[in-house]
Amino acid sequence: MKKILVSECLYGGRTVRYDARDVVLEDPRFLKWKAEGRLVPICPEVFGGLPVPRPDSQRVGDKVLTSTGKDVTAEYAAGAVEARRLAEENDVAFAMMKLDSPSCGSKLIYDGTFTGNKISGQGLAVEYLRNAGITVLGEDDIDEAEKLIAIQKEETL
Ligand code: SF4
Repeated sequence: MKKILVSECLYGGRTVRYDARDVVLEDPRFLKWKAEGRLVPICPEVFGGLPVPRPDSQRVGDKVLTSTGKDVTAEYAAGAVEARRLAEENDVAFAMMKLDSPSCGSKLIYDGTFTGNKISGQGLAVEYLRNAGITVLGEDDIDEAEKLIAIQKEETL
């Protein structure tokens, strides 16, 4: 059974978000994959050594900065490396990551001005995963994820 790398804040069970809020994904298909042991939860920011809660941060060019201007790029990069390592170690079929995050966002990210504006882009961990050839979906792509799992099941028949 191929595994799926998922953002830990979607998986639940541990408080990992910067604001310590819960955003657990409760779609029955996601819960089924969880019960099957198919999901590998990772929080790149916590793996990078950042605390919970932690300051809001956004990608600004090649860096990641907090809202007060502190450079946290090294921590985000360390978490991204660990996310990629775990994806490869578990030979995941794909990843499903929390939308809009400076680590896990796969479609849009905040634009670095801390004004709530989003732009096309991806989080740092997603950038590392995609550079390693791993498909990354968002939590709104459950239908797509189901199709990828079905294809993978056919291939292993
Ligand atoms: S880094 Fe990713 S997994 Fe961790 S809290 Fe942010 S969105 Fe969730």
